Amino acid sequence: MAKRKFKTEVNQLLHLIIHSLYSHNEIFLRELISNASDALDKLKYLTLTDQAFKNLNFDPRIDISFGSDVQKIITLSDDRDKKKMITVSDTGIGMNDKELEENLGTIARSGTQDFLKSLTGDARKDSNLIGEFGVGFYSSFMVAEKIEVISKRAGEDAAYKWISDGKGNYEIIDADRDQNGTTVILHLNDAGAEFADRWSIEGIIEKYSNHIPFPIFIHYKDTRYEGAGVDRKEIKEQKVEQVNAASALWRRPKKELTDVDYNEFYKTISHDTEDPLLHIHTRAEGTMEYNTLFYIPQKAPIDLFWADYNPGVKLYIKRVFITDDERELMPHYLRFVCGVIDSEDLPLNISREMLQKNRILTNIKNASVKKILGGLINLKKEKEKYDSFYKEFGRPLKEGAYQDFSNRDTIVELLQFKSTISEGYTGFTEYKERMKPDQKAIYYVTGENEQNLRNSPLLEAYNEKDIEVLLMDDEIDEIVIPSIGRYKDIELKSVNRSDAADDLKTREDKESEKKIDPLIKKVRKILGDEVKDVRASTRLSDSPSCIVADEKDPTLQMQQILKSIGQKDLPEVKPVLEINPNHEIIKKLEAADNREILEDVSRLLLEQALLLEGVELKDPPTFVKRLNRILNKSL
Ligand code: ADP
Ligand code: MG
Repeated sequence: MAKRKFKTEVNQLLHLIIHSLYSHNEIFLRELISNASDALDKLKYLTLTDQAFKNLNFDPRIDISFGSDVQKIITLSDDRDKKKMITVSDTGIGMNDKELEENLGTIARSGTQDFLKSLTGDARKDSNLIGEFGVGFYSSFMVAEKIEVISKRAGEDAAYKWISDGKGNYEIIDADRDQNGTTVILHLNDAGAEFADRWSIEGIIEKYSNHIPFPIFIHYKDTRYEGAGVDRKEIKEQKVEQVNAASALWRRPKKELTDVDYNEFYKTISHDTEDPLLHIHTRAEGTMEYNTLFYIPQKAPIDLFWADYNPGVKLYIKRVFITDDERELMPHYLRFVCGVIDSEDLPLNISREMLQKNRILTNIKNASVKKILGGLINLKKEKEKYDSFYKEFGRPLKEGAYQDFSNRDTIVELLQFKSTISEGYTGFTEYKERMKPDQKAIYYVTGENEQNLRNSPLLEAYNEKDIEVLLMDDEIDEIVIPSIGRYKDIELKSVNRSDAADDLKTREDKESEKKIDPLIKKVRKILGDEVKDVRASTRLSDSPSCIVADEKDPTLQMQQILKSIGQKDLPEVKPVLEINPNHEIIKKLEAADNREILEDVSRLLLEQALLLEGVELKDPPTFVKRLNRILNKSL
């Protein structure tokens, strides 16, 4: 068969891997073993559920050989340097010619392509990112100058060989293989030669692949010496030894397991090279029997907010791997959780549609969500750890506060915000503890960034009265917080709204507001339909004016979100302008009798308030002219 060219993105990926994963090049073995394990899982599943595979002689195992022992696994047609070879063989599902081409000649996963595009500059050097995307098979080209894959698909007769030097082309030819399964033969390059060694292979397997549920055997030659002196003889013996523990870790009792066990297992299922932040291991017995083991990573993967994000929870039924691309295993907002659900009660041959409706699975899921949220509530006791969790995953949690009604109370306890009073993050509980005795509501302000919010005129009255306001600079807050509405019967009030300040007003405030009624009428007339209304407000102290949203109207930030998600034909919502009767400018304006000045200043009061809210002015040149007229008069 003629040589075929890799798809361009494969070439790019190969280049990237070879030049950026150097320091981690041992992961090639983890990747090959995890592929072998996947292939065994797939075949195991078929033998248990598909009549056509029931009678197949299935002895699931992975065999690894190296150096001159490769001869025991494959028959070499020529006498290349055998010292520099490693083979990884499995008795799994195998691939036919078409599958070899599709799986090893192209990148089937569309996410990988986007990922390639998004990589620039320093990100290219971050090997963790690449690891997360499971580049898998190609990582072997870091250590091999040539790779052969001999494979036979279970239930089919023909075997094929895929050959490539990773430099742009590959070839698929007919081959011989007795049993179904796959053998990957690596012809090591100089960097890879060191791996053709028993201790190095065993070390890597123990590190990454100890909990692979199938036995991994290593083939090696043992050298012994017998006798002494001139009679001393060297005896070489061929040995096969199982290297991994091959136990489903999640089924073992907690008390038998150490943090190191948990962390190592995490690395085998997650592609993460860091330890996880937290693990939550549960065994349920009784009416329902299942084991779950969940992990929270330390860092959010970069694709967490992409549409095609692959969640990391795997479903097993009685130790048999069923699926890991089932989006329904966790609610969307917990998509950063990875781990295992293993049920004893579900039937093995359950279809995807049935899975989604299955009552047993629904119960397991609901219980799992409660466990995970409970684990996070616990984590709050360790503030530093929780803050670092929140920095990474606070955003998806907020989605949960919006989406998951049945767990909302718990999720609300998990939320944190910046605040005008305390350093760092604050939760609603802490806010509540600090509330003034006569304080009526929990106040928050929304806007584009923390710095602008801290300087917002809207906060002046609150700061003066020493009332804490939560700063919400994440656009999702606009949607989430109103949907929560209350925390333990205390209303959550946005200070961006016109009615929020009413709580703070004294009788004197109300009187001084009344006093400028005539001025208000004039300004209202000048601004016309540029604003919804003009009102007096004592919530300000240093600033002469601010804009707020009318009670029932969406705030400015909300309008911007609606626009950004493509909502067209939004009715134009106008702001309410509030002016501060106690401010020097307003007092002088009251006394002013020059029509032109009154007009210019009224407009400037609105324009400066808009600018402070981060709104672009509609007509900057006129604004500047106006400003200059006033400057001119004041000099
Ligand atoms: P991933 O494992 O994330 O899908 P890989 O690059 O590791 O990506 O492998 C690509 C594909 O090649 C796999 O999805 C699988 O279909 C196929 N494959 C690789 N190794 C084997 C194997 N030992 N047996 C059967 N199929 C395999
Ligand atoms: Mg893989």
